[in-house]
Formats: sequence, structure tokens, C-alpha cells
Amino acid sequence: MLKINNLHAAIDGKAILKGLNLEVADGEVHAIMGPNGSGKSTLAQVLAGRETFTVTDGSVDWNGADLLALPAEERARAGLFLAFQYPVEIPGVSNAYFLKAAVNAVRRHRGLPEYDAMDFLARVKAEMKAVGMKEEFLYRSVNEGFSGGEKKRNEVLQMALLEPRLAVLDETDSGLDIDALKIVAEGVNRLRSPARSMIVITHYQRLLDYIVPDKVHVLSQGRIVRSGGRELALELEEHGYGWIDAAQGDKA
Ligand code: ADP
Ligand code: MG
Ligand code: MG
Repeated sequence: MLKINNLHAAIDGKAILKGLNLEVADGEVHAIMGPNGSGKSTLAQVLAGRETFTVTDGSVDWNGADLLALPAEERARAGLFLAFQYPVEIPGVSNAYFLKAAVNAVRRHRGLPEYDAMDFLARVKAEMKAVGMKEEFLYRSVNEGFSGGEKKRNEVLQMALLEPRLAVLDETDSGLDIDALKIVAEGVNRLRSPARSMIVITHYQRLLDYIVPDKVHVLSQGRIVRSGGRELALELEEHGYGWIDAAQGDKA
């Protein structure tokens, strides 16, 4: 269970998150939508522990632990996965090497035996088949020269191998074609599990044509201003974000 309470975060003294509240129970998939600049990526980065942002108030309880007190690597080892965590290309480091190191770090932390080369290959090949990735991608440098869709498959592969307890997918506002959205959606749907929570961040409703979230939240100016079921996404699609801002204006 993730409980975000009154979260405030700033960058260079500029407040971005301004009292964000959110609870995600085990097994749930929540979608966070919102206009450009509302703080969606900031939320993802703060949860992952990126130091560019300063948390100025509030708390995040994750399964009884104070998430914000944990260094970023500890969060990852404890099962927090941020997609785009490894968006960078790493020339000279094979995908196989990289994935094995990441998976074994998580397994050590969980008290599970580390994979040897043979076990890892068997596991990774099975997962690659499930995401529709050719084996040659194991031996290529991490993300180097991968197309957008191939990077997405690789990201879903990372998520499948790391078996996160909480996955945060920040589907940035541009550059995602419909095929890439489907790859992400299939990955999310396949990896849904009672022990795993997922937060899918998106600017566009269309991702939610393929993922049926348990809850939808709208982030505006650093706070969640509306929550509902998937019908909220459809309403947004129909009326646009101006509708939310207008409703906020009425309240003020
Ligand atoms: P979203 O993901 O919803 O589009 P972001 O979280 O990326 O929004 O950004 C929220 C606000 O924070 C924006 O006003 C943006 O300009 C600002 N911001 C984000 N990153 C930085 C940064 N590195 N330096 C200064 N301002 C930033
Ligand atoms: Mg943006
Ligand atoms: Mg963003």
C-alpha cells in the first residue's frame, strides 16, 4: 500500500507539487492524467528519489516504511520501479549484462538466490518471448539504436524481470505512437497482480483505451483535483482539461 499525504515538492525554490494526496492499494492500477506542466513527471521523480527535486512537506508511506527517507537505490531494491529509469543508451554494455546485474541486485535484497548465467538466460528468454522481443536484443548495447517501440518493449522486459511491488510508468507526452502505447498497455495488463501496484501517468486518454485502471486521478497545478473511475478519463477526453480548470476556478 502506498499512501501519499500532503506532498509538496520544489525545484530551484519553485513549488511544483502543492499538497498531493493519493492512496494506491496492493493490486490496483491507478492512472494519473493531467495537462502539461501539472507535475506528473515530478511526482514520478519524487517517488523514485531523484535528487533534483526537494520535498518540502508531506509524507509517503510505503508498506509501513517512510519512502522519502530511503535512498533511491534502496527504493529500487525494495521493489519500486520507475519506467524510463534506464532510458539512456549505454554503449558497450550489453542488455543481458545490464539486466542480469539489475535483477540480481533486487534478488539479493529480497533474500532470493541470485541467478547464475544459465538460469538468467532461461528466464530472460521466456520474458522476451512474452514481450515479443528477439533474442538478438540481449547482445546489443542497452537501448543503443533501439526504435521507440523497441525501447518500450525493453522497458516492459525490465519491469517483468524486476517484479516490482510498485511500478510507476511515466508515459511522457510526446513521441509515443499507438503501437508503443499498446506495448506498454499489454505489459501493464500482463503484469497486473494482487501483490503489485501500478501508477500509469499519461497526458492522453488513449492509453486508457487499452488499460482499464481501477482509479483515475487528475493532477492540476500540483494537486489531485479529481478522482474517479475510468469514466473520468472519458469525460476528460470529451471536455478537455479546460473543464477541470474551470471547475477549479468555480471552487476558488
Ligand atoms: P508534467 O509531467 O505534468 O508535464 P512536470 O512535472 O514535468 O509536468 O513539470 C511541472 C512543472 O515543473 C513545470 O512547470 C516545469 O516547467 C517545472 N519543471 C520540471 N522540471 C524542471 C526543472 N528541471 N527545472 C525547472 N523547472 C522544472
Ligand atoms: Mg510535460
Ligand atoms: Mg511529464
